[in-house]
Amino acid sequence: MRAASKKMCAEGKTIALVPTLGALHAGHVALMRRAAQEADVVVVSVFVNPLQFGTNEDLGKYPRSLAADVGLAGKEGAAAVFTPSVKEMYPKGYSTFVTEDRVSKPLCGMSRPALFRGVLTGWLKLINIVQPDVLAMGEKDPQQIAVLRKALADLSLDVRIVSGPFVRDPDGLALNARNDFITPKQRAEALSVHRALVLAEGMVASGVKNADRIVAEATHVLGEKRRLRVIYIALVNRETMEPMREVVPGKSLLAIAYWVEDVRLTDSCLF
Ligand code: AMP
Repeated sequence: MRAASKKMCAEGKTIALVPTLGALHAGHVALMRRAAQEADVVVVSVFVNPLQFGTNEDLGKYPRSLAADVGLAGKEGAAAVFTPSVKEMYPKGYSTFVTEDRVSKPLCGMSRPALFRGVLTGWLKLINIVQPDVLAMGEKDPQQIAVLRKALADLSLDVRIVSGPFVRDPDGLALNARNDFITPKQRAEALSVHRALVLAEGMVASGVKNADRIVAEATHVLGEKRRLRVIYIALVNRETMEPMREVVPGKSLLAIAYWVEDVRLTDSCLF
């Protein structure tokens, strides 16, 4: 990969990197297309990064479909698909990690303490190998974007972040590789999360700004489903992830994480 990147660089091409865990779907495709608008070539990485899974999480059963992923990335015109092994990324005795201590702490950082340390360590390695000009990240994971933005700035990395659109299934469920694990019945329950976000968007559109009111109404919608277990719902600043009392257009994020049975999912909307 390093040799391929050097060659593309020497040819004067700019590179956009799209890091993924694989099991590619329409959300990833939208991101690849966004990346293609921002650089001459697109490199997609497929790596189920064990560092970003906690000990009791679903690393073992995370969906893997490498052949289909390579086919899809090729169809979308990717110049390369980088698929390092765990051994290559973290050989025996590996002992260097990257952490960000502020933006990564609340929300998913609170409930999944290994997550952002794993993401940052893995992604910094991918960036160092691929040497991209642009890093493409989906708006489906706004805290991930905020953490990477902060870390890249703090570490003075000359990589520009561009975000790709949030892609949902027609019924409103956020596309996610883990959606395969839920039954149609569970899916119907999970859809109340999208309904809660739509309600919140409607409130904001009609002029409501107060965070407590928005969170309370959204929580009411979530409470109608028996199998849904909400981990957090919060209105935060989209850059710092700190709580906000009022919606500030262009700055606010309503973020939700929840369990439907034993599948942990997230959803959100930007105001
Ligand atoms: P993942 O494979 O889940 O780690 O995601 C890899 C990249 O694709 C991340 O930047 C995600 O934000 C993005 N992504 C995943 N699902 C979606 C989606 N439904 N809509 C938009 N982007 C997504």
